[in-house]
Formats: sequence, structure tokens, C-alpha cells
Amino acid sequence: MERLALCSKVLYDRDILEKHKRIIELEKKLIPPKIRFERYEHWEQFKAEMYCDVHAVLEKWIVHNVLEHDHMSYQGLTFRQENALNECIYEHLCTRTNDVEWSDKISGRVIYSVRAMFNAMYKTQLWAFIYQLLSPEDIVELIYEHVMWYLDDDSHYPCVLDNVAEFKCIECGKIHDYINEQQMCVECEITSST
Ligand SMILES: [Zn+2]
Repeated sequence: MERLALCSKVLYDRDILEKHKRIIELEKKLIPPKIRFERYEHWEQFKAEMYCDVHAVLEKWIVHNVLEHDHMSYQGLTFRQENALNECIYEHLCTRTNDVEWSDKISGRVIYSVRAMFNAMYKTQLWAFIYQLLSPEDIVELIYEHVMWYLDDDSHYPCVLDNVAEFKCIECGKIHDYINEQQMCVECEITSST
């Protein structure tokens, strides 16, 4: 009887351990990685550098590549353009977070979203018409604005990069999603002003 009880306990403990491991895995998938910045403008600088590279990649593959631009007339975003854009966003995110899975997921979502935009224009037979109207530079701006808005352009909430940046308040030492120019959290800002 004792042996049976011991056996059940071992099985129970193993089950709990496996469930615990699974919860940690799922949590990792649901909760985005955090990037710690000293000042709020460093976070803005990080995004600005990523968007600057996004713009350069789009220019390279749309403005400076006549063949790829031609293929866009019936394909929307081409395979090579997709790859280049995906890689650019992935590299920026992964360099700061070291989270391969999350960075891959986010860059993939951006591409999927751009494809959705082109697909809607294509399905409604608007794309052939719009393509004739737009210069390669216009198409770059169209995709660029879409990508920035989708990731985080500071103009709306929610967006994909919400809750990714975190900051340490120099007053209370706690970690927050926002600090002001004096590197203080909202509570400390209120306390110091009263
Ligand atoms: Zn504080």
C-alpha cells in the first residue's frame, strides 16, 4: 500500500513539474520580452533607427530595383521585398531582446499585415489602377507609413510594440513603462510637484 502511495506521489510530482514547465513556455509566448532603456528618448531613438533602416530597405527594393518594382504591378509585395523587410525588422528587434522566437513572430506579422493591405487592393481590382498612379517613391511611403503605424508610431494605442520598453525611475527605483524627461515615473513626478 505504501509503495502504491509513493508511486502515485512520484507520478503526481512529475505531472505538476511538466505542467509548470508548460506554463512557463506559454507565458514566454504571451508576454513580450522587455527592453530596458535609461531614458525615454533612447526608446524613441531605437524605433527611429529601425524605421530609418526600413525606409532604406524599401527604397533599395522598390525605387532602385526596376525589375522588382515591375513585378509589384501584379504581385503587390514581391518575395525578395518581403524577405528584405522581414530581415531588417527581425535584426533590430532581436539585437536588443535576444528573443529569436518573439522577433521572428513580430517581423512575420508586419509582413503579413503589408500583404493584407495589398491583397485588399488586389481583390477589389484597385491595385492595377493605383499602381499606375503611384511613383516608386509613393509606394515606399505607403508601406513605410503602414509599418510604422502597425509597430508603434506614438500616435495610437494599442500597437504591436506596446509594453516592450521599460524604464527605471531614478526617484523610487521601480520599473515602469514610462518615465518623464527627468527620468521619473508618474507617481514620483506628482509627489515632487506637490
Ligand atoms: Zn518613481
